[in-house]
Amino acid sequence: MQPAPILEVSNVDVVYGGAIDVLRDVSLTVEEGAVVSILGANGAGKTTLLRAISGLLSYHSGAITQGTIRFNGTDTTQTDPAALVRGRMAQVMEGRRIFAELTVQENLGTGAYSRKDRGEVGASYDRVMELFPRLKERRTQVAGYMSGGEQQMLAIGRALMADPRLLLLDEPSLGLAPLIVEQIFEIVRQINGQGTSVLIVEQNASMALRNSSFGYVMETGRVIKSAPSSELLADDDVKAAYLGGESAHTSFRNLKTYRRPAEYIV
Ligand code: ATP
Repeated sequence: MQPAPILEVSNVDVVYGGAIDVLRDVSLTVEEGAVVSILGANGAGKTTLLRAISGLLSYHSGAITQGTIRFNGTDTTQTDPAALVRGRMAQVMEGRRIFAELTVQENLGTGAYSRKDRGEVGASYDRVMELFPRLKERRTQVAGYMSGGEQQMLAIGRALMADPRLLLLDEPSLGLAPLIVEQIFEIVRQINGQGTSVLIVEQNASMALRNSSFGYVMETGRVIKSAPSSELLADDDVKAAYLGGESAHTSFRNLKTYRRPAEYIV
């Protein structure tokens, strides 16, 4: 028998402020142990989808008006975000949001706030230090003075302090140099290799697809395409619209307009 997916989003609609429809009929699955990417241009609804999954919509006056989200078999729409973290879902938000005045160590400590077992927290800390030697070197340094790449590493490290079974990453490549982006994705591969399932929202389509097994393409609040990442990488429409032809590093931000062929509207 197939194990149940770690995450199953089914036919979800999201509305902001009781009036603005942002997600429509969105469905998505993350199998246990997989890396899955969500691609799409600015405003497609990717961050909103992550908020819906992690239970943070209400902080943005948003609400799920239809559909279900099951994490590890439990309906998350009935669970508060802190319980989700205890249930081992962790999110790295867009823009990193580390505590600039706190040291690396103190930032990491905040990621373990929901955990009681000091021994297990210590094991997570050691794991983070091993994954990120740079953070180990700078563990007593104030986070606000670190580079963007180091701050992104810290944000991911902090999420790992919750020992997540599912890690949600919102645009980990944002504003980082290509070499640093490579490093970040290499670490994501290692995290996944250690058993954590990963859902990544990315505008850097090439990086996301090369580092995931399955991808979803969103446009104006809907999933317009979903396929194994290798198929999306080879897909002519995805190449033309999202991979920027020859350049592997072209991002969705460069995209002005994209009219998809009618057969892809689902
Ligand atoms: P980006 O890459 O720019 O972050 P995105 O694909 O993550 O884009 P979202 O941030 O989810 O897209 O935004 C989807 C739509 O919802 C946009 O039109 C945005 O303006 C709108 N939106 C986002 N947050 C709110 C909010 N709190 N209230 C009202 N509308 C919102």
